[in-house]
Amino acid sequence: MTFAATVLTLYPEMFPGPLGVSLAGRALREGRWSLNAVQIRDFATDRHRSVDDTPAGGGAGMVLRADVVAAAIDSVADDRPVLAMTPRARPLTQARVRDLAAGPGAVVLCGRFEGFDERLFEGRAIEPVSIGDYVLSGGEMGALVLLDACVRLLPGVMGAASSGIEESFESGLLEYPQYTRPAIWEGRTIPEVLRSGDHARIAAWRKHRAEADTRLWRPDLWERHVDTRVQSPSGAHDKDEGQKT
Ligand code: SAH
Repeated sequence: MTFAATVLTLYPEMFPGPLGVSLAGRALREGRWSLNAVQIRDFATDRHRSVDDTPAGGGAGMVLRADVVAAAIDSVADDRPVLAMTPRARPLTQARVRDLAAGPGAVVLCGRFEGFDERLFEGRAIEPVSIGDYVLSGGEMGALVLLDACVRLLPGVMGAASSGIEESFESGLLEYPQYTRPAIWEGRTIPEVLRSGDHARIAAWRKHRAEADTRLWRPDLWERHVDTRVQSPSGAHDKDEGQKT
């Protein structure tokens, strides 16, 4: 099964963009996933081909029209989830990315201006997705982020070495730090344990650093990790990171 991505956007020329190079680009050419960028403006019905209008209640900027965007969605709708890029949502998680990558693909809706007419979320089954607590000028870069995160998990996209199992977030923790040659750089050495060849010691060191760095940089993740461990002493993965309602 090929992961089918459809992006609804006012700027289809932004795709595949960075997804056309490196691992994602090679996988695209190999047919491991497909990408279709659809111009929302093609679904405008008035003679000015307008896609937006002024905000009800007043205020700055323009709002994307529900009727035009819904027509664009309906033209591509199938069994794939429809995700709308918006800062007014829970931030995307690796757990949600994994679910998406295991499915048939995604329809990704990119906002511009002040975003979408809210009735769109009432009239269609749309999952709002944020890529973080900051504001972009458009949803396209968010769509690229989301698709990149999905595509690298598809079978055959990354080398066998990078199964992704030990990576940041997969265990509810950040990954341990990595080192490579040269053995000494500007007088700094690689931690002795990593050169010891003692796999048990290396594993213990990595676990310690993953925990310490998560506590330091992401106390929110750490707290959740500790809570999960208390509830399931087996150390099972955090199943629901709260992306789904
Ligand atoms: N006025 C809106 C922001 C609109 S930004 C607000 O304050 O909520 C314009 C578009 O950029 C949005 O419609 C969305 O598609 C995209 N965008 C901005 N920030 C984003 C984020 N953090 N995650 C995903 N998409 C984002």
